[in-house]
Amino acid sequence: MFTLCAMDNGMDTRRTTRALATEAVHAGRDDLAGLGLHAPPIDLSTTYPSYDSRAEAARIDAFATTGAEPDGPPVYGRLGNPTVARFETALARLEGTESAVAFASGMAALSAVLLVRGSMGLRHVVAVRPLYGCSDHLLTAGLLGSEVTWTDPAGVADALRPDTGLVLVESPANPTLAEIDLRAVAHACGSVPLLVDNTFATPVLQRPVEQGARLVLHSATKYLGGHGDVLAGVVACDEEFAGRLRQVRFATGGVLHPLAGYLLLRGLSTLPVRVRAASANAAALAARLAADPRVARVHYPSIGGAMVAFEVHGDPHAVIAGVRLITPAVSLGSVDSLIQHPASISHRIVDADDRRDAGVSDRLLRLSVGLEDVEDLWADLDQALGTPSAHPARTEAMAQG
Ligand SMILES: *Cc1c(COP(=O)(O)O)cnc(C)c1O
Repeated sequence: MFTLCAMDNGMDTRRTTRALATEAVHAGRDDLAGLGLHAPPIDLSTTYPSYDSRAEAARIDAFATTGAEPDGPPVYGRLGNPTVARFETALARLEGTESAVAFASGMAALSAVLLVRGSMGLRHVVAVRPLYGCSDHLLTAGLLGSEVTWTDPAGVADALRPDTGLVLVESPANPTLAEIDLRAVAHACGSVPLLVDNTFATPVLQRPVEQGARLVLHSATKYLGGHGDVLAGVVACDEEFAGRLRQVRFATGGVLHPLAGYLLLRGLSTLPVRVRAASANAAALAARLAADPRVARVHYPSIGGAMVAFEVHGDPHAVIAGVRLITPAVSLGSVDSLIQHPASISHRIVDADDRRDAGVSDRLLRLSVGLEDVEDLWADLDQALGTPSAHPARTEAMAQG
């Protein structure tokens, strides 16, 4: 993923890039030892004193021109926060981008991207289904004044118009885990920015910028936070786009709270370990589900990951009602396993025909695999799938008991 780069003077062979696992625990914290600190400080200030209002005016003018973070302390909490900035720095390092801009939620992050492009008169969006249900709804309903053309990956180039401001894809997609050839789509986009929602893969498994995406979006609520206790979103991108996103964030107010910024930075430090361990569990469960006669179809991405989707022959609501260790709840990416029925919950807001056209069957269940022991997880799934008569081993056990 990262390569060992020697500097070109033939003398200095220091490593100039750091591996992902190293960035995960050090990025955004490089100044701490010099400050005499180990854990990052949490700055809860909403405002910052300055006795020089001419200098403050110049700092505000500079922000209005480029959207660059002002040097020194922020002017006001909505303009920036040092603790949140540490998380942004770290996520940008992990995604391999110049910058990242954090928001109050994944939807606030997507809204800011649409507002940036819309404010430039580029209101048309080309998007590929399936997307997360609320992202689909935001575009379909045109809540922010955008107009969407839905297409498949091969149709992206033909769907572009002079006023197209954005191409939006998810890969692996929520909830079917469908994968897209990002390099091919990026090529089809030409000069139109490609936004890849990388929530499911995380930078541990996929770095879309390396495949030609300009914008990488995360619902940081999921794997980046990783413990089910932070709502957040972030866009990783070049500094020019980041400046526009900060200006929109300042104007519309969807900022991330500093405590959330702290928890996200802490979450990033274990991201590679969590994603790899949960993915190993998920791959094992996907294989067992695929071999199970009660399961009609299993979706598991070729790049791996900790999400598994599967279609049951029986009643999906009975599986949701039957789990005991796994939590029946929307959301994903936590240390513990969650399961939900997309047609009822996460993708309820999408029109039923559109949902089915996108491959979201009414019998589909979406499982977010956590860090529990895989045998305990399988035991829970096995009993929740029920129907002992279709399952010889259990029938035998029942006959004995
Ligand atoms: C959850 C999710 C979102 C929305 O994020 P929030 O933090 O809930 O606002 C966007 N994209 C994907 C793929 C998601 O799973």
